[in-house]
Amino acid sequence: MTATTSLLAIARRDLADLNDRIVGPGDPDYDATRAVHNGMIDRHPALIVRCSSADEVARCIAFARAHDTLIAVRGGGHNGGGLGVVDDGIVIHLAGLAEVTVDPGSDSVRVGGGCTWGQVDQATAEYGRATPSGIISTTGVGGLTLGGGLGHLTRRFGLTIDSLIGADIVLADGSQVHASANEHPELFWALRGGGGNFGVVTSFEFRTHPVGATVMAGPTFWPIEQTPEVMRFYREFLPAAPRAVNGFFALMTVPPVDLFPEELHLRKVCAVMWCIVGSEEEATHLLAPVHDVGTPLLHGVGSVPYPALQSLFDGLYTKGLQCYWRADFVNELSDELIEQHLDWGEKLPSMHSTVHLYPIDGAAHDFGSADTAFSYRDAQWAEVILGVDPDPFNADAIRDWCVGYWNATHPYSAGGAYVNFMMDEGQERVRATYRDNYDRLARVKAQYDRDNVFHVNQNIHPAASA
Ligand SMILES: Cc1cc2nc3c(=O)[nH]c(=O)nc-3n(C[C@H](O)[C@H](O)[C@H](O)COP(=O)(O)OP(=O)(O)OC[C@H]3O[C@@H](n4cnc5c(N)ncnc54)[C@H](O)[C@@H]3O)c2cc1C
Repeated sequence: MTATTSLLAIARRDLADLNDRIVGPGDPDYDATRAVHNGMIDRHPALIVRCSSADEVARCIAFARAHDTLIAVRGGGHNGGGLGVVDDGIVIHLAGLAEVTVDPGSDSVRVGGGCTWGQVDQATAEYGRATPSGIISTTGVGGLTLGGGLGHLTRRFGLTIDSLIGADIVLADGSQVHASANEHPELFWALRGGGGNFGVVTSFEFRTHPVGATVMAGPTFWPIEQTPEVMRFYREFLPAAPRAVNGFFALMTVPPVDLFPEELHLRKVCAVMWCIVGSEEEATHLLAPVHDVGTPLLHGVGSVPYPALQSLFDGLYTKGLQCYWRADFVNELSDELIEQHLDWGEKLPSMHSTVHLYPIDGAAHDFGSADTAFSYRDAQWAEVILGVDPDPFNADAIRDWCVGYWNATHPYSAGGAYVNFMMDEGQERVRATYRDNYDRLARVKAQYDRDNVFHVNQNIHPAASA
């Protein structure tokens, strides 16, 4: 505590002009500012600096290096393993880098490194356009993008990184560079999936795509006992469907909200959450086969503005819930694996707990495994098993279910996992996730962050020989 307090005091002296944006132990907003989305994470940094420019980020990096202190970079704070906060070190908080500027002339949008996706969606929707992201509007642009970015528009327009045009980044030595296909191309390659390993991105530039005023979206629910029939349909239907159709599979409990009929509240179901970029007629036609599968309890697909779809689950997955994550990439949904899903789905330990399978085919397959750092371009789905509960008392129960589920299904997986769905699972899992791209990433890491200053992440170790 003494060391912690004195580092804060030194920061207040050396970064005096930032004093009103430095938050430390004892400050009234310290607990609220250090808190991340996952309520299981309870870390106490020495100080948090709310930066609002690349120069301020560079000064914080220099300060941390001078005092040999850990650095955590905070985007939206959603990371399951709590990578946006660190004990005793410094948190470079980017919420002040929050500008969003749409350029309708070039169908692009420039986004501050601390923005959340809701801010981007609102701005691009004014032009009937969107950049593919996730399924929750409060997720940070920074972390989601640097890991890859999977969501409702993946099959139609690819991963988030596939729409990345360039990024402004502050490097470990404090220098500021722009990475794009033409400038620092190796760094640009590494940023597209390699996480926060290479520096602090203060600004992203993305392509936007036409989605229109509304998309056709919503869930189909079936009784959870019908999981085998629904999954067997899903494994054939979705990969063969046109790119306009996205649908992630879920085992879940229907939340008790007005959106759903009361008789379904708190019922365990298997579900597909659809998003069709197209008209009502097109969606009706494309999803016609869905009605012949099992006995659907609800088919709730309707016309919805894209930003509204993106914030549909915000109220369910709020900040502070206890969350335990496990993940895998999956190529095949064999009958045996489906039986495991039914078994573990029936044991969902709480209303918020769920398993999702996000498709990563369609436009995401237009890139090869070595084209970006995100390696699993050949996989069909990214699976995430999520144990969630508001009550810390239930933390063990949701963790045990999550780990048990993963142990039972992992043998059927493709190997690694999507970095943004992992907790702290060790170097072997990181390597398994990047496969043949790991060594190239390690060389880029050695070139741009030889001392591994940025290691509060799914860490790429700098190559020794570079
Ligand atoms: C409720 C919920 C729903 C989710 N849904 C999806 C989904 O649909 N699709 C999907 O792909 N993922 C999803 N995720 C996972 C999400 O992509 C990751 O948690 C991601 O790490 C969050 O990014 P963040 O900026 O909010 O997180 P943070 O915790 O702030 O940061 C995560 C990591 O990214 C680094 N980082 C963040 N910003 C920057 C930056 N500007 N420059 C350099 N490094 C940076 C941090 O250092 C840290 O290592 C979801 C997460 C939650 C909690």
